[in-house]
Amino acid sequence: MNVQPQGLHHVTAIAGEPQKNVDFYITGLGLRLVKKTVNFDDPGTYHLYYGDASGQPGTLMTFFPWRGVKPGVVGAGQSTQTAFSVPAGSLGWWREHLTGLGFEPRITSTSSSEERLLVMDPDGLQIEIVATNEDDPRNPWESALHPADYAIRGQHSSVLTVRDPERTIGLLVNDLGMRVVEEMGNRTRIAAGEGGPGALIDVVASSLVPQGLTAGGTVHHIAFRVPDQATQAIWREELVSRGHAVTEILDRNYFTSIYFREPGGVLYEIATDTPGFDVDEPLLELGRSLKLPPWLEPSREAIEARVAPLSVPSSNNPEGLVA
Ligand code: ZN
Repeated sequence: MNVQPQGLHHVTAIAGEPQKNVDFYITGLGLRLVKKTVNFDDPGTYHLYYGDASGQPGTLMTFFPWRGVKPGVVGAGQSTQTAFSVPAGSLGWWREHLTGLGFEPRITSTSSSEERLLVMDPDGLQIEIVATNEDDPRNPWESALHPADYAIRGQHSSVLTVRDPERTIGLLVNDLGMRVVEEMGNRTRIAAGEGGPGALIDVVASSLVPQGLTAGGTVHHIAFRVPDQATQAIWREELVSRGHAVTEILDRNYFTSIYFREPGGVLYEIATDTPGFDVDEPLLELGRSLKLPPWLEPSREAIEARVAPLSVPSSNNPEGLVA
């Protein structure tokens, strides 16, 4: 394949109560709500997108929050942890900050090159905050509560837990053009493009964990990024020719998407960098009002009656933000 993947675009997970989700990802992790829309396949529920100031691919975490959803099982065949990148030496700050909000973060790795802090979100989703020596030049979304010295730079990596790592690694390397960069016990690190934070997948081999069940508190899919729809179409053709059952190109309003399942059970998406989140509201106002794609706009009244109002912290749209 003559095109290379550039890294992660977003991770999408299933949550319960939407307000708790907003509170954790904005006040807890310090991400910005960059889009409040609905699930295009189920418009009675929200689809919430969090990221940096403008929702750059590689910083995005998205949720389908279903009030009263049954809890899932985090396990084999899933992306089991979503890791965010923070500056070296900041995990002490993060532990104190999250503990102060009533969460129970714990340091899970203290290697000199990579420290990891694990915290469960309100639905039990496993979020890791990773501090490495590796340079992460991305500008953080900062606020009074999350100063730039500590704030999240974007995704670091997605951890895939599978029974048979060979097939999962094989697809990433042979079909998606990525490369193995490190082996750490039962963990194999794969990099896309130039590698580094935001372009890493850790494949963890485990026969001990239960089989994953996708529901509340679990990741639904992970998405890799391509620059535009022309490149996406090339990918689609290539993947189909290699025997993968790939969906048609779907319009997600802020990007277009194709989906297919890898042999370990994880659902993959390939999403475009364009057009981005300022296609239907100004950068200053991202996340402020409920946005609907043109084909759902006629049903706005019915949709607004079904989704409960959300209270979004004022730090989400600071005055004078310069994009
Ligand atoms: Zn997606």
